[in-house]
Amino acid sequence: MNRLKIGDGDFTIIAGPCAVESYEQMEKIGYFLDSLNVRYLRGGAFKPRTSPDSFQGLGFEGLKILKEIKNKYNFKIVSEVTDPRDVEKAYEYIDIIQIGSRNMQNFILLKEVGKQDKPILLKRGMSATIKEWIMAAEYVRNEGNENIILCERGIRTFEDYTRNTLDLMSVPIIKSNTKYPILIDPSHGTGRRELVLPATKAALALGADGVIIEIHPEPSKALSDGFQSLDFDEFKKLINEIEKIKV
Ligand code: PEP
Ligand code: MN
Repeated sequence: MNRLKIGDGDFTIIAGPCAVESYEQMEKIGYFLDSLNVRYLRGGAFKPRTSPDSFQGLGFEGLKILKEIKNKYNFKIVSEVTDPRDVEKAYEYIDIIQIGSRNMQNFILLKEVGKQDKPILLKRGMSATIKEWIMAAEYVRNEGNENIILCERGIRTFEDYTRNTLDLMSVPIIKSNTKYPILIDPSHGTGRRELVLPATKAALALGADGVIIEIHPEPSKALSDGFQSLDFDEFKKLINEIEKIKV
């Protein structure tokens, strides 16, 4: 039941919570995504938070939960690593290794994941130019790993209605200047759940290779990023809308 590889022409949907919070939470999400035949499950175990007092993620406990859900429903797991010392140990739990916006220029981390033989989802730094982002990908590639997926997640501008300004023009720019697939993250890119659907439609129209979307069974109770997470009904509606446009 595996889909094509990301970047092979299909519009890939990756979904899951910002953070893995418990087995029960992930089981609900796993059951739900499986019922919609979404095959890529995201979930942060190591959370880079602005405040040290915020929930930092369950760490390896979170990765173990992801693996249990993966084995039960046959998902591909997308999860972030933040520390080069964790990469080797995290390897067996993660199918697509995410490098977060705050670590786009953590060159030691980039070199470490460049030595792995799994795809790297490289998010754009929130203050990075497209050139700097492509150079960050070069750090990974130079170590031998060419399996890189770029992810536009918005940049900081003076505009504060949205959490970030989603720089959608990076899609055609990346397409014409590199061979990498590119995903859009409409959740962090807008920071507002009502903008996730229009941003996803825009991603599809521009020829992006897919989207990565935050969902939660009860967004108001989420331990991180609940305000931008879709509940199950909202996500189901998004999938239906996208399917309608695709055919
Ligand atoms: C995330 O995907 O939950 C995340 C922290 O994203 P970013 O690195 O883009 O802020
Ligand atoms: Mn998040």
